[in-house]
Amino acid sequence: MKHFSGIITSWYQQNKRDLPWRNTNDPYMIWLSEIILQQTRVDQGMSYYIKFAESFPSVNDLAKADEEKVMKLWQGLGYYSRARNLHAAAKTVKAEYKGKFPSAYETILSLKGIGEYTAAAIASFAFNKPHAVVDGNVYRVLSRVFGIETPIDSTNGKKEFLQLANELLNKKEPALHNQAIMEFGALQCKPQNPDCSVCPLNMHCYAFAKKQVNELPVKSKKTKVRDRFFNYIVLTNKESTIINKRTDKDIWTNLYDFPLIETPMGVAEPDLIVSSEWKKLVGKNKYVLRAVSPEYKHVLSHQKIYARFWEIECAKDLSNFKPDAAIIIKKKDLQKYAVPRLIENYLERKIS
Ligand code: SF4
Repeated sequence: MKHFSGIITSWYQQNKRDLPWRNTNDPYMIWLSEIILQQTRVDQGMSYYIKFAESFPSVNDLAKADEEKVMKLWQGLGYYSRARNLHAAAKTVKAEYKGKFPSAYETILSLKGIGEYTAAAIASFAFNKPHAVVDGNVYRVLSRVFGIETPIDSTNGKKEFLQLANELLNKKEPALHNQAIMEFGALQCKPQNPDCSVCPLNMHCYAFAKKQVNELPVKSKKTKVRDRFFNYIVLTNKESTIINKRTDKDIWTNLYDFPLIETPMGVAEPDLIVSSEWKKLVGKNKYVLRAVSPEYKHVLSHQKIYARFWEIECAKDLSNFKPDAAIIIKKKDLQKYAVPRLIENYLERKIS
């Protein structure tokens, strides 16, 4: 289609949102916004972007930061490996590129946690280089307008869409073009029931003409979701509690939670206290089971977690209970530690 770029850029100029990362061509700020916004809504991501930009105004500031501080600022966003990769990549930029963000697409792509989409976004938005971005919004727009039924999560699909996106790219104004197509997907060609009657592309749109708007784009795989059952043992005495730094290769690496007994399904107290994990944790120490929380359901991209918090009041000395790799802290200091959203929800509900 001859006028594709012209149509979407003129739509963009009239309809774009004023977002802070659009008013900069600093590659570091663009990178921050892109990593924060992956699978996060703009309204939710905005406060995180502002917090990060204020706490770490440059890539060197981020590189020098304590990992604990980075994780604490990221708390609540999920996908914690992104924060760790962000931090690691900042250290690489500082060490290998003297703190100057690289401008070549291939070099940007080589940084930890940066994939093709993010590398194209940084190269085009910050350096106006002709690399087309292909994110979920772009897949949707292209599959609908051009009637492409190749699954977007297949190797062939990825190649086909990337090639088409690069053919359509306005090489003279790649930043504007890329911003425009992404915003067009986010606001106009929305996933559900877009208002095609007001769309400037409706005369050229395959899906609109064939009434296939809700069938496109096509995905081949359904994500398999695993159910997990977490029993958090909240051991406390008057002043203190025990937390655990997660070090395994599992979800939430390097975040803090309570000692955990994972079971194949939800369990009642008689079954939990005969388990070997319980015996290891509690041993022969005296305790009182004060309460068991209602079940918290926490949904991640590949896992559904059903969690209960077993609140246990212990004798004076918690060190007898201390499981491996856990630390005893003052209850009032809990808020200083970066915890997963599930734990945050539990603590909020407990306090309120
Ligand atoms: S006509 Fe509808 S489906 Fe086609 S591009 Fe416009 S909003 Fe999307």
